[in-house]
Amino acid sequence: MGNNDIYEKVKERLIRYAKIDTQSQPYSGHWPTTEKQKDLAIVLKKELIDIGVSNVYLDETNYVVYGRIPSNINDGNAKAVGFVAHMDTAPDASGTDVKPWVLENYDGKDIVLNEKEHIVMKAADYTNLENYIGQDLILTDGTTLLGGDDKASIAAIMTMAEYLCDNSDIRHGEIALAFTPDEEVGGLAKDLDLNRFGAKCAYTLDGDHLGWYENETFYASEAVFEFTGRSVHTGTAKDIMINAVDIAAEFIGMLPKKERPQNTDGREGFYHVISCNGDCEYSKVRLIIRDFDFDTFKKRESFLKECAEKIGSGYGHDRVKLTINHQYSNMKEILKDVPYMTAILKDAIKKAGVRPVCEPFRGGTDGAALSFRGLPCPNLSAGYENAHGRFEYVPIQSMVKNVEILLNIVNAYANLKYTN
Ligand SMILES: [Zn+2]
Repeated sequence: MGNNDIYEKVKERLIRYAKIDTQSQPYSGHWPTTEKQKDLAIVLKKELIDIGVSNVYLDETNYVVYGRIPSNINDGNAKAVGFVAHMDTAPDASGTDVKPWVLENYDGKDIVLNEKEHIVMKAADYTNLENYIGQDLILTDGTTLLGGDDKASIAAIMTMAEYLCDNSDIRHGEIALAFTPDEEVGGLAKDLDLNRFGAKCAYTLDGDHLGWYENETFYASEAVFEFTGRSVHTGTAKDIMINAVDIAAEFIGMLPKKERPQNTDGREGFYHVISCNGDCEYSKVRLIIRDFDFDTFKKRESFLKECAEKIGSGYGHDRVKLTINHQYSNMKEILKDVPYMTAILKDAIKKAGVRPVCEPFRGGTDGAALSFRGLPCPNLSAGYENAHGRFEYVPIQSMVKNVEILLNIVNAYANLKYTN
């Protein structure tokens, strides 16, 4: 398989996967959150078997697909390495009836996605387009997302696996593969069975911009405030009524305005109110807290407790209920002990002729949760652009580069001996 073959393979794969609706759905009441994610899982299982991957397994309950490529190094001591990508697409835009198409040799101008409905991606609005002049883009018809997030990664991983199975002269240690559901709704790869997976270290593939990689995420928790009011007729409410909506508004007013997502970037953390609803009798405010620094993160949680205390002392403590749920932690805490993992990743990107860019990731990855479960997982970008929306696209050349980067990682691990 030469570069041309790799190009054709990743292109064909992403187009085929994109057409399968795998949208996940928050608060669906069951897990995995949608049954249709299994449609892609079944396709991937068959494909892994067809290309000669071993130990292929589809967990019928949790929709996780596994596979392994056994080591072909005779002394058998190379370190095993894994790759993980997610199958679901974001609930933010429709994933039904996706019609991917290819624009070859992009000329830098506006792109008509849908002539009939006059949907145009303007080069002036989406300035990332100028980075891909001369390349071939996989696009949508402007009515759905593409799902390159994260199917561009699945296409790259699958093509890397096929390349290794077809070229037994390439030395490699054991390779573990997994495709997981529900990343977009906070699944955190929780049903990935680490024993079945096999490798003790892995890379997640997700995120935009070719060549970007992450070894740091937020610390994250969700807080829910519940306020109980006292509803009476408004005509006779004086000194009796307690309006739970007013209390909610009062609480939201206590949050520092500068520390909202729209006012922060870089290493700054924030509070973000996700939802607020209720009536005079009862109201509920749901918010998330994010920070890179553990101490500051903990201070944010304490601040919310102080807010609850303050409101409680005004209205009565039984009228305020605060629940804080931890979501995930900054994976740097784990990855700092395995610095070679990030070094190999950076080197693999460079060797593919791509400029590596590492920035603290202002979000979470499944790898953050996996790292704390004992599977350290830096993240390599998938190479998609404008994810979660109708203007999403994937340059085919970015997927080709990612296959090369994956093969470089595999090569580095082939020469790495077990140290633990
Ligand atoms: Zn993703």
